[in-house]
Amino acid sequence: MDDLVAALARIVGPGAVLTAGEDMAPFVRDWRGRYRGAARAVVKPATTAEVAEVVKACALARTPLVPQGGNTGLVGGATPGTTGNEIVLSTARMNRIERIDPTGNTATVQAGVVLSQLQEAAAAANRLFPLSLASEGSCTIGGNLSTNAGGTAVLRYGTARELCLAVEAVTARGDVVGSTLTGLRKDNTGYDLRDLFIGSEGTLGIICRAVVKLFALPRARITALAGVASVADALVLLARAQSVCGPGLTAFELISDRALGLVERHFPPHRSPLAARPPYAVLLEISEYDDEARAIERLEGLLASASEAGEVSDAAVAQSLTQSSGLWALRELVSEAQAAQGPNIKHDIAVPIDSLGRFVEETDRTLAQHFKGIEMVTFGHLGDGNLHYNVAAAPGAATLELLARQEEINTHVYDAVARFGGSISAEHGLGQLKRVAITRYKSAAELELMRALKRTLDPDHLLNPGKVL
Ligand code: FAD
Ligand code: ZN
Repeated sequence: MDDLVAALARIVGPGAVLTAGEDMAPFVRDWRGRYRGAARAVVKPATTAEVAEVVKACALARTPLVPQGGNTGLVGGATPGTTGNEIVLSTARMNRIERIDPTGNTATVQAGVVLSQLQEAAAAANRLFPLSLASEGSCTIGGNLSTNAGGTAVLRYGTARELCLAVEAVTARGDVVGSTLTGLRKDNTGYDLRDLFIGSEGTLGIICRAVVKLFALPRARITALAGVASVADALVLLARAQSVCGPGLTAFELISDRALGLVERHFPPHRSPLAARPPYAVLLEISEYDDEARAIERLEGLLASASEAGEVSDAAVAQSLTQSSGLWALRELVSEAQAAQGPNIKHDIAVPIDSLGRFVEETDRTLAQHFKGIEMVTFGHLGDGNLHYNVAAAPGAATLELLARQEEINTHVYDAVARFGGSISAEHGLGQLKRVAITRYKSAAELELMRALKRTLDPDHLLNPGKVL
């Protein structure tokens, strides 16, 4: 055993350090199988104090650390590099929900708590933790904060950053900051260190604990699927839904017919309830604090007037929890259905909402002109202006040829995003996947400020090297 590994074993206990190849295998590759690295060891601390000791031992040995939560990230951020010298720090044992406070509407958790476990604990206290992602059965609060995760409830409740009141983190020097974790709603005492760690993908510090916001649990959540002819029409429906439902509109998700078709193909018996096959479907959810019948009535009224105005071709309102889960599954299974279908080129983009219709129409057209044998699999969080604008090989076309042109396709899409004033990573982060691409779209001054922050907080490049910058 080498000296560092022995020191780590003394800190966390020998059972919490993995060094055998087969034990480390799940920690050195990503969910999609796009990235594969190597590690000297995987270490699993259970407390903030242990994380601080681990970081100090690694700093002394000048050995980089890669923080890892549920390893569901889509940009290679939690995968170590290929040198085999890095240590993966897994938060799997930091899985304690310390406190649910239904009066202050907060939860205090360790970073390795799985998102769905926090949702369930909050619901048991008649509260809602609204962050919701298709990976919620595996992803962790630490990972959610480090990537500033979005998901399907941002429209009403905001991203992970907006749901977070405080973080406790360990710096690259092994110092613990933020440990008072008071979760104050108001605290204007200088620079907001919490916001530095959120969204920094493990490159500026290791998030160990957090206080997050809870909300009253709605009494009814009603879901519908509505067919629309275009993204532009879906946006007209969004404006109408916001006028009718106000803050009651809690999700507004887009699923293209191609995306729906993939779910139906790979996950039978899931099927769209819409009689026709419009080019797009919108999944709407409204949440009400009075009774369910009122909520159903409101949603049916909204869809009837949209249909009269010609904005919606066909719609189905879920009449039971099972039907509602069935509609959500159509949306949430798209990523997995795409993975089952074969390799594809993912773009997680945002543009100002009022330009989204034009962006999709123009970019679809120019991609089809420049790249033969492609099809678009577009879906995502339309209400946030964020689409998963994915490119796949059309049936019968060669996937390898498509992948060979990945860089060219990315540049095409990202240049269009930039022309519309958008972002090339709305919610997944930069990781390894977009660290080079981003240099084309951020200004020199912005990039230099980011590098200056990194130099200040992590001068020896100990934390997650080769990611983000
Ligand atoms: P990991 O993948 O383990 O890590 C992600 C990044 O955070 C890495 O850079 C890692 O180094 C860093 N990190 C992890 N824990 C810590 C910590 N404690 N301190 C410091 N750094 C840390 N994302 C969305 O935003 N919206 C979606 O709708 C969405 N849908 C998804 C659907 C599927 C099917 C899948 C597989 C993924 C989806 N994702 C989505 C991406 C992913 O689930 C999120 O990025 C999630 O927040 C990652 O959490 P994790 O615990 O798995 O983090
Ligand atoms: Zn998403």
